[in-house]
Amino acid sequence: MNWETAVQFLTDVSVALMEPELDRALERLREVAAGQKWLSYLCMRGQGTGGSSVEVRAGVEPASGALSSDGGDSRVELTGTREGVSVSMVARLDLQSGGGSPGGDAVVREVLGEALRLFARRLAVHGAALRARERELADAVGALSHDFRTPLACIKGYLSLLSQGKYPPGSPEWEEYLGTVMEECERLEKLVSVVLESAAGPKIHLSIEPVLLPPLIKRILLEESAISRGHRFFTDISEEAREIYADPTRLEQVLRNLLDNAIKYSPEGSLIVLRVKKTKDAFLFSVADQGGGIAPEHLNRLFERHYRVEDGDSGKVRGTGLGLLIARQIVNAHGGDIWAESVVGRGSTFYFTIPFYNTPSGGDAE
Ligand code: ADP
Repeated sequence: MNWETAVQFLTDVSVALMEPELDRALERLREVAAGQKWLSYLCMRGQGTGGSSVEVRAGVEPASGALSSDGGDSRVELTGTREGVSVSMVARLDLQSGGGSPGGDAVVREVLGEALRLFARRLAVHGAALRARERELADAVGALSHDFRTPLACIKGYLSLLSQGKYPPGSPEWEEYLGTVMEECERLEKLVSVVLESAAGPKIHLSIEPVLLPPLIKRILLEESAISRGHRFFTDISEEAREIYADPTRLEQVLRNLLDNAIKYSPEGSLIVLRVKKTKDAFLFSVADQGGGIAPEHLNRLFERHYRVEDGDSGKVRGTGLGLLIARQIVNAHGGDIWAESVVGRGSTFYFTIPFYNTPSGGDAE
């Protein structure tokens, strides 16, 4: 299954969810999940017992692991690697009914359907990014094999000449051919370091353009509130920070990762505050929550690959430990910094900066 079919499938399911036959949609979700190695991520919960509620987590996250299903009626977990790109999907649809009003269930179904559509849309965005990356990788491998082949052919040719014994050691040809072989070996050595450097982490390509923050943030918060557990959101975008220069898709990814975490790691119904203001040389973003907070020994390590705080309440929350790493890579690619401050028991605030010099003209953003 490729990304197009995955997106189509999710769109189909979202349509199916609007129908009364929710079970059939789930069955299909399970069938498809059971036979596939591709992965994406979705985790949803709905409750149809009069006081209807819904919980959805959606996104595409790198992960590795195996297919598992908890055997429940409405849960599919799927993680794995596809052609070098690791992605994971956790689909959980947990519609509890009984005792509640039928009207409540209808609301839950509707919200789940909406959430699935939202997920399909997000998957389409991530899928496009992944496909572009796959193409980039294929091009890079093609170019690389060409770059390696030339010096290798050259080395082989000269060594074969030398091995014929026609040119005795010390003869001008012997010296010249051996010199060329050495040069080509050095070229290969340089190529290997280039490959190693690029393997250290994906290079983030930015497409910088003017971004109007209020509508972008409004849309993000609308979608995030669908996955929150009754959290209240407050935004404060200062007048002089309404428009900035940045890569809008990447900026959205950073904000979503921070908001997803604020939601995941703070109690239901608590307050999440997103602020943007202008400082001397950058726009300063902050996302503050009223969660359990993060102990000082973890604070500097949160942005490392796969780093997770396993003790306390946050250990119970599912995750891959990659969201903050990705956020840091994107912010750094913009020339900014990202960091966290926290008081255990009170909450955490994540800050990041987007410097002014992202303007296409290289000047101030205003
Ligand atoms: P994930 O949430 O998938 O584990 P992240 O890279 O987004 O991965 O976060 C790394 C870790 O940082 C989390 O596992 C969690 O322990 C901690 N963390 C991140 N955001 C918060 C937050 N707002 N409050 C408390 N802990 C957090």
